[in-house]
Amino acid sequence: MQITGVGIVVAGMLPRTAFAARNSLKSMRTGVQPNGKTRLVIETGLRPSYTIVYGENTLTVKLSNTTGNDSVSAKLASGTLVKTVTQTQIGDALNIVAELRKPIAEIPKNQIMVLEPNGDNDYRLVLDFVAGAGTKSTAATAAATSNSNATRKRIIVLDPGHGGKDPGCIGRGGTKEKTVVLSVGRKLRSALQNAGFAVYMTRGDDTYLKLADRAAIAEKRKADLFISIHANANPSRSMKGFSIYTLSEKASDEEAQKLADAENAADKIDVSGFESFSKDIRIALSSLQQHAVAEMSEEYANGCASAFKRAGVEQQPGPAVRHAPLAVLRSTVPGALIECGHLSNAAEEKLLKSGAHQDKLVAAIVRSVKNYDFEV
Ligand SMILES: [Zn+2]
Repeated sequence: MQITGVGIVVAGMLPRTAFAARNSLKSMRTGVQPNGKTRLVIETGLRPSYTIVYGENTLTVKLSNTTGNDSVSAKLASGTLVKTVTQTQIGDALNIVAELRKPIAEIPKNQIMVLEPNGDNDYRLVLDFVAGAGTKSTAATAAATSNSNATRKRIIVLDPGHGGKDPGCIGRGGTKEKTVVLSVGRKLRSALQNAGFAVYMTRGDDTYLKLADRAAIAEKRKADLFISIHANANPSRSMKGFSIYTLSEKASDEEAQKLADAENAADKIDVSGFESFSKDIRIALSSLQQHAVAEMSEEYANGCASAFKRAGVEQQPGPAVRHAPLAVLRSTVPGALIECGHLSNAAEEKLLKSGAHQDKLVAAIVRSVKNYDFEV
């Protein structure tokens, strides 16, 4: 009893800062993006914790556990949707209120980013937005927005790897990667369509397509998610299991780099072959938006790995989610490349060919897509 009592006293005496350091406002600014979007940047000393509230003609960012700074006034660029930006301390929270020239729709998740400190900058919360349905009344706009969100089908682009002159890897028993992944892709298309998604395929038959063209299809279709389907091979015939890859400039391990080399070799795209992309995509790729796309891809890949594990699909030893500079994932669409298993392993080659196992993979991917937090 005595010990408990002492414990309570000690806990009560600990300084509050030991639990949560307070954040502080460093700067605020607006700007116009090359694509015409208005950008609002809020810089803070620590990683911001925030909620966004949409008013009739205001955008409010509530920063929790944050202290304002009266000497900070917003630097406002001309030609943006923002008239003024002010700060109001409300208890522990700091409200940053942007007064708008026109109403805006809810900002899509991939247009909200938190950037890590670099150079002279601390943490930056970056919001990119456009005017939304400005001519209607606010009530009507809100109803129209929620209605369209409820009915808009999410768009999935499926990309069965390789095809045509490029067989991908070939199993000991002669099974070609391009054939297996096309079969999985077709089944997946029907299953996702049945689940209410709009589905497009980069290839629906035995056709060869360049990697950049596959990524461009995802862009053109304005896809919400891009899934590239592959099967693996390894010099060690005992190697088995699935793994899932997201895009990064550096491979997460040696194996991931080898895989990227092999997959990229499909059309000899140089990893740094940035110029082969259209100007629009280059701008988007070089923009800060990539941080958000990377985060969403990571989220999907982790969910997909869990779905595979739950379905009892064997995982390759090591991390289930890896990162590699894969050309096919270079786009502004969140996505992942799934290596469904190893054709170089005799047992897994048999499995990958079997309809029952393909159905299992398809069911797991459908589950991962359903569970993915698309958000508008
Ligand atoms: Zn492949």
